[in-house]
Amino acid sequence: MTDRPAPSDRAMVPFVDVDTMMRLVHAVGLEEMMEGIAACIEDDFRRWESFDKTPRVASHSAEGVIELMPTSDGEVYGFKYVNGHPKNTRSGLQTVTAFGLLADVATGYPVLLSEMTILTALRTAAMSALAARHLAPPEARVMAMIGNGAQAEFQALAFRRLCGIDTVRLWDLDRAATAKVARNLAGTGLTVVPCDTAEAAIEGAQILTTCTADKQYATILTGNMVGAGVHINAVGGDCPGKTELARDILTRAAIFVEYPPQTRIEGEIQQLDPDHPVTELWQVIAGRAPGRTAAGQVTLFDSVGFAIEDFSALRYVRDKVRETGLYTDLDLLADPDDPRDLYGMVMRARP
Ligand code: NAD
Repeated sequence: MTDRPAPSDRAMVPFVDVDTMMRLVHAVGLEEMMEGIAACIEDDFRRWESFDKTPRVASHSAEGVIELMPTSDGEVYGFKYVNGHPKNTRSGLQTVTAFGLLADVATGYPVLLSEMTILTALRTAAMSALAARHLAPPEARVMAMIGNGAQAEFQALAFRRLCGIDTVRLWDLDRAATAKVARNLAGTGLTVVPCDTAEAAIEGAQILTTCTADKQYATILTGNMVGAGVHINAVGGDCPGKTELARDILTRAAIFVEYPPQTRIEGEIQQLDPDHPVTELWQVIAGRAPGRTAAGQVTLFDSVGFAIEDFSALRYVRDKVRETGLYTDLDLLADPDDPRDLYGMVMRARP
């Protein structure tokens, strides 16, 4: 017999594991959830100046990168741990996995720990579609989806929900990946067109999404593939030495980014001079800078993924788990009744 408090009497941290996140997606609805996360991102981008901001802290290796992405709005602190390992899929592992945490700034105590592999796919798609609402031609109904991996279906469905696309044209080096997306999107109401080349995939598309994984300066789109008036949603180039677009596309495009100090290191614009003009997307969302200004303009969202988007997604999940009760209590914090008696708490648990 010990006087160790039962776990239920101690400070517990709400925890959303992978299984619970999947149940939350079904309880809320996948597209509703992406729309809700997009609304949170929109709110947080409007109050951009109230956040602590820093480029993410990256640890690079030959095969990939591990990153920490922190931010705070002064009341709540959040971070995400995320990796990017393009070769992982060959051994049956995910390219991108993640988990993240929110904490109360006043006490430093965590208030949510969550899986974020699924949540990253949801927030990345929500962010892409939110950007496209300001940048893509309003009449856009056809999207080319180049790179048909883990992110692809989420991207397609977020663009359907937030931008009204009705057709997605697929291309991937790996035909099995394209077949997987076609299978998964069957019955969603989207017209899905698997294509034999990247050139075929972009035919008639007003939105070009690139979401490939390769640790190199790749050229997924060349200049001659990008006609006047299209919007490019470049998601896959998100690390030093990892890009997807030919440089001459960048010099023709109006470029929109999340946080320039991070995107200049990681985004497509790492190929450009460090003072090449770009527009910060939060300024467009806050009404301080224009988005698309002409029908013939080529717009580019040079997406790399920024900490505030993860913060927004985590606070959306925090609110939803409170509503639904979909979480478990995690005994993460050693929190003795007498805060100075940590040792005594450990000793009272002696078997
Ligand atoms: P994944 O490995 O599941 O899928 C990538 C797909 O790209 C694979 O199917 C692969 O066959 C295909 N591919 C590789 N080279 C290609 C080429 N030259 N042409 C056509 N297809 C090609 O990866 P994922 O989880 O879907 O992520 C895709 C990329 O997006 C990764 O690079 C990841 O780092 C990045 N990402 C960015 C953000 C962001 O916020 N910007 C968020 C999540 C993931």
